[in-house]
Amino acid sequence: MQKFEEAGYTICKVDENPNIYVVNTCTVTNIADRKSRQALRKVKEKNKDLIVVAVGCYAQIAKEKLKTIEEIDIVLGNKEKKDIVQYVENYLEKKNKENTAIKNKNAQNIDEKNAENENEIYVADISKQKDFDEYGLVTYSEKTRATIKIQDGCNNFCSYCLIPYARGRIRSRNKDSIIREVTEISKKGIKEIVLTGIHIASYGKDFEEDYKLIDLLEDLNKIDGIKRIRLGSLEPTIVTQEFASRLSKLEKICNQFHLSLQSGCDETLKRMNRKYTTEEFRKVAEILRKYFKDVNLTTDIIVGFPGETEKEFNNTYKFLKEIAFYKMHIFKYSPREGTVAEKMPNQVDGKTKDERSQKLIELSNKNQEEYNKKYLGKIVEVLFEEEKDGIWSGYTKNYIKVNLKSDENLENQIIDVIPEKENSQIIYARIP
Ligand code: SF4
Repeated sequence: MQKFEEAGYTICKVDENPNIYVVNTCTVTNIADRKSRQALRKVKEKNKDLIVVAVGCYAQIAKEKLKTIEEIDIVLGNKEKKDIVQYVENYLEKKNKENTAIKNKNAQNIDEKNAENENEIYVADISKQKDFDEYGLVTYSEKTRATIKIQDGCNNFCSYCLIPYARGRIRSRNKDSIIREVTEISKKGIKEIVLTGIHIASYGKDFEEDYKLIDLLEDLNKIDGIKRIRLGSLEPTIVTQEFASRLSKLEKICNQFHLSLQSGCDETLKRMNRKYTTEEFRKVAEILRKYFKDVNLTTDIIVGFPGETEKEFNNTYKFLKEIAFYKMHIFKYSPREGTVAEKMPNQVDGKTKDERSQKLIELSNKNQEEYNKKYLGKIVEVLFEEEKDGIWSGYTKNYIKVNLKSDENLENQIIDVIPEKENSQIIYARIP
């Protein structure tokens, strides 16, 4: 968007009759792939002259498939994205020449049908990219919270995941660039930042100097105006006594950690090619609970991974009960073409996945309700974000959502409130 604006284009909605339509595709799940294909196909129904451009992760890994979709004109990989305007303009110039030639009846050598249907593919091998690409950094900034991308790529190659193929190897963003952006954000009055990336635990591993995630957090903690620093999904392997001890000294760090566990059974974890055991994960949870009061641990779990027997699932269930996550995001495994897991034997049937997923959702809801109830009658500090029908909602530092009835404008205010009622995972509070 930014590149088109800089080149003098006007950004408009799809129903405002655009000339160029760009789909930033995603490949995190099969559903994301399907949605990307649907978005690319559908849009030309209304306007046949539209130039349709596919960019992003799904474009990076599925160029052969996208080649067969005739509604698409240009496919660009993640590396080519920054030159999108140039690619589009070259394409337009070429099309104009072809159309003029056809009109002038000088087109004996041009296959008109092919010229209309052929799409152009520019997808470089992303695994060769070594630098963090500053272009296209999008800071999703609401009035109270901004997400800051600090890292890209992954070296882990979990057996079910295509991200390393779509995003390449780990690349960390320059620390000065991050500090500069957060300083600018703080001047706008935003109080909370969320640090994101594909694998933020690996931040700095590609630097020559010894500067890791914890060093960055110590620097960000010094920036005036920012009141809260939240970490996006964190690989459990980074959490050592030393890491947690240094982290706990930073007063702005939110005591909420999303640790992607994926399975609570060692055999399943091994097949997933995850880099830890349940025993190691248990220690991580203990360390975080030791250093952070009221810490809120959340996680992602995949159910129905190939070969997951009833016994393996029961191990997972038992482990999850023991760790007692506040919230678990449950994903039913779905095979991704081109992954190791896709070819594994003993794929689990849909009904079993549904049942296992349901069991874990119930456990997650129960944990959440129990955890929320602990706060009833106690003072908590909430950063309020938005209002609907006279009810303001916001989050505590450990990411508990709290609602408060108020006629005042509470947006971007951090206020002490007392939760007094819990109903189906929703907390209602009052002013003390
Ligand atoms: S850690 Fe595993 S699941 Fe996460 S992005 Fe890397 S390969 Fe994918």
